[in-house]
Amino acid sequence: MLSQYEFFKNEDNVLVRIAVTGAIGRMGKMLIEAVNASNDAELSAAVILSDSTLIGADAGETAGIGKNGIRLVGDLSEVIDCFDVLIDFTTPAATLANVDVCEKYGKGIVIGTTGFTAEEEKALSAKGADLPMIRAANFSTGVNVCLNLLKKAAEVLGSDYDVEVYEAHHRHKVDAPSGTALAMGQSVADGLGRDLRQVAVYGREGQTGVRAPDAIGFATVRGGDVVGDHTVMFLGEGERIEITHKASNRMAFATGAVRAAVWLGGKAAGKYDMRHVLDLS
Ligand code: NAD
Repeated sequence: MLSQYEFFKNEDNVLVRIAVTGAIGRMGKMLIEAVNASNDAELSAAVILSDSTLIGADAGETAGIGKNGIRLVGDLSEVIDCFDVLIDFTTPAATLANVDVCEKYGKGIVIGTTGFTAEEEKALSAKGADLPMIRAANFSTGVNVCLNLLKKAAEVLGSDYDVEVYEAHHRHKVDAPSGTALAMGQSVADGLGRDLRQVAVYGREGQTGVRAPDAIGFATVRGGDVVGDHTVMFLGEGERIEITHKASNRMAFATGAVRAAVWLGGKAAGKYDMRHVLDLS
């Protein structure tokens, strides 16, 4: 049976029409540039906060790529007929609201927002049964390859090695540890058969006692313009293995998110991630 999303197919050079929310944010501007560079997608709507003085401005111009004729609007519903897939890198509250709109109107959604509280996570998990959705804490190809390597390394190294996750980001980041650090911790926990919620240790101070053997530790650094550094250490007797990813430009995330949005074309309702997009087992 044909899914209601079959019309997203771009095999006949039909471009996937993309809307970007948070269009004047750091990632929003990158996403507009990445859609512009894609042969498979076109920007068809751009949404910002409704009280912004930039409502009505040209989205290409605010993204720094020159005029593209797409006017910034303050409400996703206003442009609901203009797009097939929404790419959303905003805030947890905005993303939750946008999932509802996309589900109501049968649109696909690519979610890059991080920093969901446990309650917001629960709310998000309960949504999205009726729309194609891709969510990733990090859309870069390199990080997704690292997630695979980490699971494999944890499976082989086993419990003889202590695991610690380090991450650094720019001074504007509002959540910690990063969604990517948590995803890396989750990959290790999956490889070791541990429940991350039970074994995660977020920062250490004072009389901490000796390290719990099953702990997966997280350390966070914030400052300057660091785009995103992640290192997972497997610390054993006489050796240490480190798997590191360093992002030097947000474009890696934006390109991956656009690739995910194009991939979402033709997919049935369901929750997907970058392993599906990149065909990583
Ligand atoms: P930012 O603060 O620069 O941009 C967010 C934008 O969203 C702002 O312009 C804000 O005004 C806008 N916004 C908030 N609520 C809105 C609403 N209701 N409607 C429209 N616009 C709204 O932040 P950023 O650095 O671009 O990051 C955004 C999110 O993406 C963060 O959660 C960040 O952690 C995440 N992120 C994810 C990845 C990934 O690969 N998954 C990569 C980088 C950043």
